[in-house]
Amino acid sequence: MKISNAIYSGFIIFLLLFIAFLYINIEDFEKKITQNIRDVILTNTSYLADNIVSIIKNSVGDEDIYTILKNNPQLRHQLESKMQVLVTPSFKFIYMLYKDKDGRYRYLLDGSKEDKAFFDSKFDVNEKEWNKVYATKKTNIIFQDDLTGLWITTLRPYMIDGNVQGVVAIDFSTKLLDIFSEIMKPMKEVFLYIFFAIIFLFAVILYQIIIQRKTKKETVIDPLTHAYNRVFLRDFIDKIDFYHYDIVMLDLDYFKKINDNYGHKAGDFILESFVGLVKKNLRDKDYIVRFGGEEFLIFLYKERKKQSSAIHTLERIRKRIENYNFVYNDTVIKVTVSIGLVDDMHKYKTIQEVMKKVDERLYAAKHSGRNIIIDSDVSSTNMVQTALMEIEKIKLAIDEGRVFCHFQPIVEIQTQSIVKYEALIRLKDEDGTTIYPNSFLDAIEGTNIYRDMTKKLLEIVFEQTKQKQVAISINLNLSDIADNSIYTILSDELLEHKLYANYLTIELLEYETVLNESLLIERLREIKSYGVSIALDDFGSGYSNFSIFEAFPIDIVKIDGSLIKNIDTSKTSYSIVEAIVRFATNLEMDVVGEFVHNEAVLHKLKELNLQYGQGFHLGKPQEII
Ligand code: GH3
Ligand code: MG
Ligand code: MG
Repeated sequence: MKISNAIYSGFIIFLLLFIAFLYINIEDFEKKITQNIRDVILTNTSYLADNIVSIIKNSVGDEDIYTILKNNPQLRHQLESKMQVLVTPSFKFIYMLYKDKDGRYRYLLDGSKEDKAFFDSKFDVNEKEWNKVYATKKTNIIFQDDLTGLWITTLRPYMIDGNVQGVVAIDFSTKLLDIFSEIMKPMKEVFLYIFFAIIFLFAVILYQIIIQRKTKKETVIDPLTHAYNRVFLRDFIDKIDFYHYDIVMLDLDYFKKINDNYGHKAGDFILESFVGLVKKNLRDKDYIVRFGGEEFLIFLYKERKKQSSAIHTLERIRKRIENYNFVYNDTVIKVTVSIGLVDDMHKYKTIQEVMKKVDERLYAAKHSGRNIIIDSDVSSTNMVQTALMEIEKIKLAIDEGRVFCHFQPIVEIQTQSIVKYEALIRLKDEDGTTIYPNSFLDAIEGTNIYRDMTKKLLEIVFEQTKQKQVAISINLNLSDIADNSIYTILSDELLEHKLYANYLTIELLEYETVLNESLLIERLREIKSYGVSIALDDFGSGYSNFSIFEAFPIDIVKIDGSLIKNIDTSKTSYSIVEAIVRFATNLEMDVVGEFVHNEAVLHKLKELNLQYGQGFHLGKPQEII
């Protein structure tokens, strides 16, 4: 692209120079023609002057011309008549003067047809030029260019015995040159017009090319992430020798949850920032392409001689993403990425085969617990092992006590005092980085590790209530309550910490899929009998269903953030929340508004008489109560 730009600019500069060259040449051409015309005129005048001198000499002979002409008016008349014949519109004046004793010039002969000068009458001339003729005894030609045309005065000495006796003057004036310039003028104008037309044309073409390039770029760039898109990919695959690249496929882990938890806009923000971060680790010759929603391809250029360093680059990218705090609306969002890599290109015949392979490896990465790079074929047993290893990591964290909670305050709206904290579970990586539940919950769901983790969570919570005498709520799924082993852990813990059970609230999640309802109801009643409060989490989102209140002994309704966050601007949200509050109050349930992110929202909640609120405006999750 850069080379063709240079060629194009060079071509334009060449053309402009060429036109300028032609223009200068036309000026030159004009000068040459003018010069030629002058030469012709001079030659003619010179002949004329010679003729006149011959005519006079023939009549006067070697006598003193002044004396002869003075005494012979008839001869004067004859000669002047002959001179008159030679007068034309161009040869305007033909006359002869002599210099008297006092150095004044006087008429000897005048070829004018009208207003003829008298013999011996004085005539004021440019004495310097005329004296020169007397002094040099040579013809003197005087040029006078002015606006009206060209004047040439030829002063020819009349000599007898080597003395100047008089000077024959011929005044030539012509408009020929004017005519010539008039011919040239439109030509020059036309030329200028052509010149400007060409410049204009080039400007238009240049503009078109720039626009075309811009739109072409736009058609191959994904507007959200600024990565290349599939249109680019099609062309790119056609053009490149793909053996020169290591091919990578990346997919963000649990991205759907990010959309669900933080909103689609946050998801968009993550996608854009993600590509930005990846690009920082790529070189000019590498390409990142948005292949699907949250799936990307990277073409890493293979340096010749150098051993493939793709895995290092990718590991750097993976770590960078893992440790990066994506901050959206003051909320830190954590993301990880799974990566498939093909750097053994020689094994494949077509790009389709490579794509299939890289896709397989990404799939393997997903099934190995995510947030990892797979660069070779993983057999199914290997895959299980890798998955176990990932889970091992989580297990190790739990076993080594690297489980902890962030506590987010729940505030009584009227008094703005903290009445409770929601415990949000976290793990610590070996290097101390905080791991958020979206990176480990799915992997351990339904396993003993999950149960161990729940146990650990309960221990932490009871420890806190014991120490700080504060109410804390935890999140559990209905399926957790239905799960025998988790329920056993729960009831054991409650029994053990009987004194503190009434500090505990259980927030129930995913109440849309309820199996064995009667068992659940029985267990919930039992839990309640210990003094535990039951809250319904995220009410108003997903498949929220009022019939759940009929079935379960609910004490608290937590209204989903998606309804609360826009309550200050959305009439719909406001009305729904109003209805929920009225309904909950009638059933003597407390109401908590989630996602109180500013004063305006808080104000609305006060207006609606909500008892409790939770959100960044009221308090961010913190490590210590
Ligand atoms: P996995 O770890 O298995 O990849 O889980 P995942 O949730 O990331 O994958 P899944 O394919 O289930 O979901 C991808 C989600 O990405 C679904 C879709 O709504 C979301 N998504 C796709 N394109 C965009 C986008 O342009 N913006 C946002 N915000 N979300 C997008
Ligand atoms: Mg994904
Ligand atoms: Mg919750």
